[in-house]
Amino acid sequence: MHDPAVLRSMHRARFQADPAIFVAPGRVNLIGEHTDYAEGFVMPAAINFATLAAISPRSDGKIVLYSENYGEEKTFDASALPPKGSQHWSDYPLGVAHILAGEGHKLPGCSVSLWGDVPLGSGLSSSAALEVASALAFLSLMDASYPGPVLARLCQRAENEYVGANCGIMDQFISANGQENHALLLDCRDLSYKLAPIPDHVALVIANTMVKHSVSGGDYPTRRRESEAACAVIASHRSGVPFLRDATLEDLEKWGHEMEPKSYLRAKHVISENLRTVAACDALLRGDMKELGRLMGEAHVSYSRDFEGSCVEADTMVALAQDLPGLIGARLTGGGFGGCTINLVEQAEAAAFAEALGARYAAQTGIVPEIHICHASAGAHRLE
Ligand code: ADP
Ligand code: MG
Repeated sequence: MHDPAVLRSMHRARFQADPAIFVAPGRVNLIGEHTDYAEGFVMPAAINFATLAAISPRSDGKIVLYSENYGEEKTFDASALPPKGSQHWSDYPLGVAHILAGEGHKLPGCSVSLWGDVPLGSGLSSSAALEVASALAFLSLMDASYPGPVLARLCQRAENEYVGANCGIMDQFISANGQENHALLLDCRDLSYKLAPIPDHVALVIANTMVKHSVSGGDYPTRRRESEAACAVIASHRSGVPFLRDATLEDLEKWGHEMEPKSYLRAKHVISENLRTVAACDALLRGDMKELGRLMGEAHVSYSRDFEGSCVEADTMVALAQDLPGLIGARLTGGGFGGCTINLVEQAEAAAFAEALGARYAAQTGIVPEIHICHASAGAHRLE
């Protein structure tokens, strides 16, 4: 799927040097939405869309970055990186270089060629894939490495501190630590995790509503504030609840009347979503796909009705999937207000499912969706 030969010859032609090549995948979250900043659980899988980074050293002290996706080359001084991002794609690899420099790694001059097939800005985390692939590439030049969870944290910091996007740890974590044919239950509190096999007969069908989400837009921070306000009410009665992760549905029953109605609903989603996410991993480990599908359906209703994190198009995409043959479970995935739905579908039915869902959605909304049949893939590594 990701044959490094093309990127290798492109890199050779451009930079007259033989590169080492690294790959890092995009991801889809199966369940656990807006639980990350509550220090709760998420359960993503890495997917077979990825970013490749080819790297070779150079002797002039420059960092030259080329993105095949943008057809653009940018040159920087390895010893004088810009201190902040400039709203450009190069922010992501530069941010990683900047964070690594802060960790004491003196990055030598290098040529980097980037190419990816993760759809950009569609909620499948092309940004984390780019960061993690860049990090492995840079580290290889210095004969350095980090355990996956530490690498993920460094890449998250690049996106938070350098790019300026306030993302959680999930995207970078799964891109660095995913495993072929597995979902990963991540505890966002201590970054401990558990792998759960996704059976061969199950496909991940990702349906893009083509409605753009924006993590930097107003809705995401508003939801976050509202759920944190609910947490503060519970914490004022009971100690040991710094995050909604520590709250229970009983807490909500007891003190919900002191909360703004919207705060109550946001917290109801987050607390119940945490329980569902852990239960979903248990179901997957038992091979109980029916229960997993049921939990995904419940998660979507909670996300849409209580968290108000969905939109008409995403609700439509989920509704239209319900009676299609092969569906195990469907829900809106990602930060919300558009983006993609994730559908677990029987592999044998996946192609027909994707076609029928696309046709139904186009007929109902007038928007032609992009639908991808994916499988859970390995985390970042070197390609030989
Ligand atoms: P998502 O992570 O959901 O795809 P983001 O907005 O977080 O959306 O990240 C997308 C951005 O990441 C792109 O606009 C671009 O700046 C950068 N990016 C991702 N992949 C590449 C690539 N192969 N080459 C250059 N830039 C890329
Ligand atoms: Mg992103």
